[in-house]
Amino acid sequence: MGRLGVLAAALLAAGAAACSSAQKPPAPMAAPGAESQGEAELTEARAVTEKHEAARQTLAMDWSALDSTSMRNPNDGALQGGVPLPLRAPGLRFSPRRDPSARFGTVEVVRALIQAAARVEQELGGLPVTINDLSYEAGGPIPHHRSHQSGRDVDVLFYQLDSNGDPIESVGAFFDPTGAGVDFRDLADPNDDILLQFDLARTWLFLRALIEDEDAQLQQIFVAEHLRALLLRHARSNDEPSTIVTRFAAMSCQPSYPHDDHFHIRFYCAPDDISKGCRDSAPLYPWHRKRLQRAGAQSLPLAPKRPGANAKIVTHEEARADAGPMDPEVERWLDRRKQWAEQPHPGRPYCR
Ligand SMILES: [Zn+2]
Repeated sequence: MGRLGVLAAALLAAGAAACSSAQKPPAPMAAPGAESQGEAELTEARAVTEKHEAARQTLAMDWSALDSTSMRNPNDGALQGGVPLPLRAPGLRFSPRRDPSARFGTVEVVRALIQAAARVEQELGGLPVTINDLSYEAGGPIPHHRSHQSGRDVDVLFYQLDSNGDPIESVGAFFDPTGAGVDFRDLADPNDDILLQFDLARTWLFLRALIEDEDAQLQQIFVAEHLRALLLRHARSNDEPSTIVTRFAAMSCQPSYPHDDHFHIRFYCAPDDISKGCRDSAPLYPWHRKRLQRAGAQSLPLAPKRPGANAKIVTHEEARADAGPMDPEVERWLDRRKQWAEQPHPGRPYCR
């Protein structure tokens, strides 16, 4: 079986028990009250057990048959042996709104995302994390992104709750400093809006799982400063492990685009990719220096960016002009965003 066959078969096995109720054929209509409350609870308990088992199998998967190489820079690079993120895996889905040819990453990155999502599924249940673009199968320039060229960048939507505090499928909504957001759906229709809340518990656990995964070699988490602050407060007030909290505080920052609607997550070159031409952007954190020392590898700085390495980027102004008519509430939100889109903000310099 080829490399991808191994991955597909393993995930299929793990996911077989994890079909969401939305994918199952509808149950035959029953008369009201035909199913006792006890039976309904039993059915729900079985579904939870099946999802736990699927997550457990995913976490136990052997990835050693797969190999990939991330070449050059995140912003001017290529990918060899790229692995596709599955469209669905326990606790994870690739966004149905994104181009599925942009879901390739290194083995390390794809494995880490799948395992972090499975851990959230196993420990907290809820709905799948939604993953947006990674890279093309062979890497290279990709529309709408400055980086995402070498299989080590990924955009991840935040876990989200509805106004009752129940998990809701994530959308690319903006979140404000209180953790509130709105899914505006039809931008011109004020009556179809859905109020959202940033799901701190699941989002934090997903990040914690990535940070704790020493083989993943997570480098940076780009996110709006006010959401970073909410995550830090959540972690500290829940006595999360201090090493993880310290690393999160160091490796997260708000870049020039505010990232109040998704994380951009970047991973370091795997040590064995460095000798094949993989190059890291700054910074090199002390814990990563130690990893490289242990592996006998030395990080290489970014290569000069070549002409033609840029993909087409859509500016905010262009996106807003393209969006067409908007109801006044959407306009009000976009104006409020200026508060956190611009420098300066308290506490911490922007990352570059
Ligand atoms: Zn990104």
